[in-house]
Amino acid sequence: MVDPSTPDLQAPTPSPVTANEPSLRFDRVAIIGIGLIGSSLARVLRRDRLTGHIAVCARSHATLDVARDLGLADSTTTDPRQVVEGADLVMLCTPLGTYGAIAAAMAPGLRQGCIVSDVGSAKRCVIRDVGPHLPDGVHLVPAHPIAGTEHSGPTAGFAELFRDRFCVLTPPPDTEPAAVERVAALWRQAGMAVEILDADHHDLVLAITSHLPHLIAYTIVGTATDLEEHLKAEVIKYSAGGFRDFTRIAASDPVMWRDVFLTNREAVLEVLGRFSEDLAALQRAIRWGEGDRLEDLFRRTREIRRGVVAARQDQPETAKRDTPPSA
Ligand code: NAP
Repeated sequence: MVDPSTPDLQAPTPSPVTANEPSLRFDRVAIIGIGLIGSSLARVLRRDRLTGHIAVCARSHATLDVARDLGLADSTTTDPRQVVEGADLVMLCTPLGTYGAIAAAMAPGLRQGCIVSDVGSAKRCVIRDVGPHLPDGVHLVPAHPIAGTEHSGPTAGFAELFRDRFCVLTPPPDTEPAAVERVAALWRQAGMAVEILDADHHDLVLAITSHLPHLIAYTIVGTATDLEEHLKAEVIKYSAGGFRDFTRIAASDPVMWRDVFLTNREAVLEVLGRFSEDLAALQRAIRWGEGDRLEDLFRRTREIRRGVVAARQDQPETAKRDTPPSA
């Protein structure tokens, strides 16, 4: 189903980059949105002393207070324009649906030469919603660190979240290479292997590997939620049979995922169409007792799992929380 030009994603190897490398230092980093991903990035910046100042923006003072208490913010504000002033790196870490309004609000505060990047789960929409607001001399380098958990907010983050995962950058074709390299170096420092892809290609691949699985999980858990009360209780009681794993994914942040589906609409509908056809074929195979067909599919899918394990992408992010980096 994936375009054959999909890169062969092998296990990330630790980067030779060190925090002393000049391209890794930023004078002032502005993080807009300090939830799971923004706070994890702030922890990396702190841990490896990559910047002299972290300026943080969120919607609520309550979140900003937590960020300060955690030592993740040197200054805080609810104003996107104010937070980017003097920053040489701006990181958008809010739900995708907020990008356009935030970009419009922050644009007058951006300084020449500044890099604007992000962590959003879809990428074409970043170029569409953020790009037109940026003044000349500001570099847009969209990024997607492919790592996460079902938890939200600044207390949910941890620096090890990104280790041994992939980060995809989708710079528009005319982006200055030095700006792309600085963002790549930052994510390598966080422990990620960096790949550069076209934004549309990223969106199609992620629609299959991430967005569709979330949609399926939301559907299955939703179906169970609509059952009669006595059945619902048994679904929870016997959830270890498989349902449990879907509930973890379906516990992911509702606003973030609403925005992923709305901003990556075309790619999601494309893979959903194919999935629906495959599901109908399975339904037919079950109805007609075509055991060979079922077994053949299940053998092929088992191979995919082996590939995931071989690429060391099988451990949940939370397992990394307390384990030291591999040598
Ligand atoms: P999160 O934990 O829910 O945090 C969202 C943050 O954005 C909060 O600090 C929130 O502040 C702030 N925010 C929301 N609307 C805002 C606005 N209009 N102006 C300023 N700040 C605003 O979210 P997350 O899981 O870190 O996700 C953030 C981004 O990362 C999303 O674009 C998502 O697609 C991407 N991503 C997520 C994952 C994942 O597994 N979660 C993985 C990879 C990429 P308040 O608390 O004050 O509302």
